[in-house]
Amino acid sequence: MSSIERDVVIVGAGASGLTAATELKKAGLTVAVLEARDRVGGRLWTDDVDGATLEIGGQWVSPDQDALIDTLADLGLETYERYREGRNIYISPSGERRTFEGEIFPVPPKTEHEIVSLIDKLDALVAEIDPDRPWEHPLAEELDEISFRRWLETQTDDEEARLNIGMFIAGAMLTKPAHAFSALQALLMAASAGSFSNLVDADFILDKRVKGGLQQVPLLLADRLGDDVHLNAPVRTLRWDEAGVTAIADGVEVKARFAILALPPVLISRISYEPPLPRRQQQLHQHLSMGFVIKVHAVYETPFWREDGYSGTAFSPYELVHEAYDNCYDGDPRGTLVGFVSDEAADAVFRLSAEERKARILESLSHYYGEKALSPVVYYESDWGSEEWTRGAYAASFDMGGLARYGADLRTPVGPIHFSCSDMAGKGYQHVDGAIRVGRETAAAIIGAA
Ligand code: FAD
Repeated sequence: MSSIERDVVIVGAGASGLTAATELKKAGLTVAVLEARDRVGGRLWTDDVDGATLEIGGQWVSPDQDALIDTLADLGLETYERYREGRNIYISPSGERRTFEGEIFPVPPKTEHEIVSLIDKLDALVAEIDPDRPWEHPLAEELDEISFRRWLETQTDDEEARLNIGMFIAGAMLTKPAHAFSALQALLMAASAGSFSNLVDADFILDKRVKGGLQQVPLLLADRLGDDVHLNAPVRTLRWDEAGVTAIADGVEVKARFAILALPPVLISRISYEPPLPRRQQQLHQHLSMGFVIKVHAVYETPFWREDGYSGTAFSPYELVHEAYDNCYDGDPRGTLVGFVSDEAADAVFRLSAEERKARILESLSHYYGEKALSPVVYYESDWGSEEWTRGAYAASFDMGGLARYGADLRTPVGPIHFSCSDMAGKGYQHVDGAIRVGRETAAAIIGAA
């Protein structure tokens, strides 16, 4: 066991921890980053699978994500646009495949009217919410005690409208069923992206990708930090008092004046604290849980949908794969689709054998893209639920009532211990932009106190 002394020990080498470490080092403080895995990046992971470069974790960048965009520029990383030419595909309640252009879904006129009206209502509410302080909204408690599903039911009796609007926050973002989180949590998700309209606009929220993959961000940040990053070093115990901390990881022990826990909040209680964290933290961390989604990649000899005049963008709340996109990797002439299977649908297919699951998922893709979708040359399912150091995807959110009750204390430091993660962000919540933003803010708080 090696023993070192630093100003700050950072637990977790994801985008948030590495950003905080970078900022602290720039300010002249010494750091050690302890990472449980044998790689940096956490939920950012670009890998070669059977000869195809795939983004197993996060990948998209949207135009409002200025913290991420600054970091990309600083690291000299270039972006490219998601392919979006041609018609999009929607599957109706009866299973009919319909194509459309622009943002208006091909639904009956009454449903369309209800969808537009729900988007307007949500945009108006979101405009009143400060993503950094959603609990301060005058109706915060009321909105936090009603599930998003029930709230939608109070707004319209049109089920197709409710399912479509619900899908954009539930299956597509928080990756929990719409009955499992509150209307306030849904509003925070939308406010963190600027508006609800931004979330429904794939051209906005899924705008660009990074050449070389988004894991380049943590990889390049870690390169700059050099020997200050320790891999295969899960922190098991954190001893602390007002004067400082000792982080005890496998193979290395770091004494420091401050600690940053740059972990998904569900993993905070995996560490033993001596003395235990205070009552408030022990309670509040129990009210956050990870969503769950399978990100599926299917690579084909050619992007055949493009040849047929389709953008690759497809969605339906009635399909196992509720959304799918063209995800061709920069420079690879083959065609790649990415699709998502969320929450209870993901639970259901994980009860099947791997072969049956693949068959069900490809069948769902074929409902959008036709028979050719059944025969990919590379097929891969990201399974973040099995990752010990993540335990779900994309990120963590509060249970019913949790955001109004505990949200304000989520990032409050405990003595020398600070908290930093995308799952604790306001703007950029659950996204890499939020991870970077919170990493910078946490570093600034420590620099101010040091
Ligand atoms: P993490 O990346 O989770 O980093 C935490 C780190 O802590 C990990 O490296 C972990 O190994 C380590 N760790 C945990 N416990 C310990 C311990 N005890 N000791 C030491 N180390 C420990 N975001 C986007 O912006 N755009 C997208 O397109 C997008 N798509 C996504 C798709 C998927 C499938 C997933 C999973 C996520 C996606 N996200 C996306 C979300 C984004 O990836 C995350 O919000 C962001 O990467 C989180 O960064 P973080 O540093 O806060 O946390």
